[in-house]
Amino acid sequence: MEIITDQPGKKILLLGNEAITRGALEAGVDVATTYPGTPSSEIADTFSHITKYFTKKGDKPPFYFEYSTNEKVALEVAAAASFSGLRALTCMKHVGLNVASDAFMTYTYVGCKGGHIIVSADDPYCHSSQNEQDNRYFAIFGGAPMLEPTTPQEAKEMTGVGFDISEQLSLPLLLRTTTRLSHARGPVVFEKMQKPRGIGHFEKNPLLVTVPAVARKQHPVLLERMEQAEKISEKSQFNEVVNVGKPKDIGVVSSGVSFNYAKEMAETLSLDVRILKLGMTHPIPRRMCEKFIKSCSTIVVIEELEPILEQQFKTLAFDMKSDVKIFGKSTGRFSRLYEYNPDIVVDVFSKIFKVKNPFPKPVESKIKLPSRPPSLCPGCPHRATYYAVKKAAPKDSIYPTDIGCYTLGKEPPLEMADVLLCMGSNAGTACGFAVSTGQKIVSFMGDSTFFHAAIPALIDAVHHNHDVVITVLDNRTTAMTGHQPHPGTEFDGMGRPAKMIRVEDVARGCGVEHIEIVDPNNIKETTAAFKRALDFKGPSFVVSKSPCILLEVDRKRKAGEEIPVYSINQELCKRCKTCIGRFGCPALYFAEDGSVHIDTTLCNGCGNCVQVCPFGAISKSGVKE
Ligand code: SF4
Ligand code: SF4
Repeated sequence: MEIITDQPGKKILLLGNEAITRGALEAGVDVATTYPGTPSSEIADTFSHITKYFTKKGDKPPFYFEYSTNEKVALEVAAAASFSGLRALTCMKHVGLNVASDAFMTYTYVGCKGGHIIVSADDPYCHSSQNEQDNRYFAIFGGAPMLEPTTPQEAKEMTGVGFDISEQLSLPLLLRTTTRLSHARGPVVFEKMQKPRGIGHFEKNPLLVTVPAVARKQHPVLLERMEQAEKISEKSQFNEVVNVGKPKDIGVVSSGVSFNYAKEMAETLSLDVRILKLGMTHPIPRRMCEKFIKSCSTIVVIEELEPILEQQFKTLAFDMKSDVKIFGKSTGRFSRLYEYNPDIVVDVFSKIFKVKNPFPKPVESKIKLPSRPPSLCPGCPHRATYYAVKKAAPKDSIYPTDIGCYTLGKEPPLEMADVLLCMGSNAGTACGFAVSTGQKIVSFMGDSTFFHAAIPALIDAVHHNHDVVITVLDNRTTAMTGHQPHPGTEFDGMGRPAKMIRVEDVARGCGVEHIEIVDPNNIKETTAAFKRALDFKGPSFVVSKSPCILLEVDRKRKAGEEIPVYSINQELCKRCKTCIGRFGCPALYFAEDGSVHIDTTLCNGCGNCVQVCPFGAISKSGVKE
């Protein structure tokens, strides 16, 4: 628990995400909330570990933490803490802010009291996301001050300063990071930890009730606050000019991790440039930027994703009647797609400034490596569910899916994912297909996703009697983001016993009449249950309940239970390929002679391939080391 040591001056290596947690601890955060989502997860997981550490010792944790049902709830819980005068932090991945945006867009009208940091962890290149939206637009859209760190150290500092700015302006502050910063490790120097405020007090204020008359009054207040924010931005320690070489009139404007690439590559090419490093990027420090424009004949804007700074600089230059040349995305120099890296920046610099790129061109390998698409783990219960559904459903059935590791059912040989929009969309799109087609529909989601965003769509299915099968792949955890708890688990994020809510009880409460609860590891019964669900006219609900195999293996190890491994009797095997070609557990492989085997180091002992083999060739052969 080095992260909670109160030793000012101590320097340790932290992930950008961990540095944000440390910054919040130093600022005396009282309430931290989240819905887990990569690349933001480690911020909240660190809060969770700290609270569990205190809970285990029998001490009261210094702050409250929760994995909320979804990002909107997370924002609302933290906003109420702020209304009560406490400091709060809410973290989420970029698309989480879409979910929270209904609250966010009005929150900025009423404003906050205790400082409130909202971390949006963006994901250029969609490493683990369904899109690469640029959430800097949300700061502009909703009217929130925004900070963008370049290093873990700065992430920690910005979190601390962000709380002060938020309280000064009475506005929640957006701390926007990207995957490279979230998951990069760097040295971070500790400062003194402030004591949390403890218990807040809510003072009633009619301006917090946003009826139209109040909203009309509060909108101009928001605009005034943003004018104040611009004054803070002009003086911000995070907005500065960094000189490389002996700059004359060439300038670079950058923010976030792009600044690191810009500085390093300008030094590599021995350019003489001044770099305007913007850390407070909303609102931009207009006077500072105008001064910068006046000092330059050429400006290169380097920012990942959307041309947000570039457009603002072009507008400023136009208003100033400046003839400065601005290079960025609109001149085709940089792309609006994906992540940047030093190679991209050095290539553009060398073209604009007509200097030789010192790096050799990457050599294209002639060796064709086999593609390795991600797949469900060996022994994953989702594979068994999909196999059973495939057996039960007609060929042209539609399979709307959702966000979680079960999306990997998209890959061959299962191919059990046809449509995916966002969290909870499986059930909504299932309803849409029911009214638009004559095909059978079986939709899939995880248990955490069910609580997060699918209940309204389930109610829609019941209310309109849509002929759909809605499936919850209930593996008792939020698996893909790191096995966090959710409302269906017995413990909360602080390690305390929590009321476990059963998905089937919720479905019953929503009026679903046909509910099947199955163990997917019994493929025959699961297939029969799906057949019954498909035959039912109207909405049916299947809960396919089996713990994530990784948790199950871990539990067995801790309990001293044996984990069986399986192998194939080559004399019985007819090489029909059903186990590989239709079931597809990654522990199964072909040897060079075409025979089929099980890699016992990968086998997690679920035994499902035994049920799949039509010739009884697979059996238990030992236990895992
Ligand atoms: S028992 Fe069969 S299906 Fe299960 S993990 Fe082992 S090889 Fe894969
Ligand atoms: S399903 Fe059975 S018989 Fe067919 S290849 Fe696999 S182990 Fe051999």
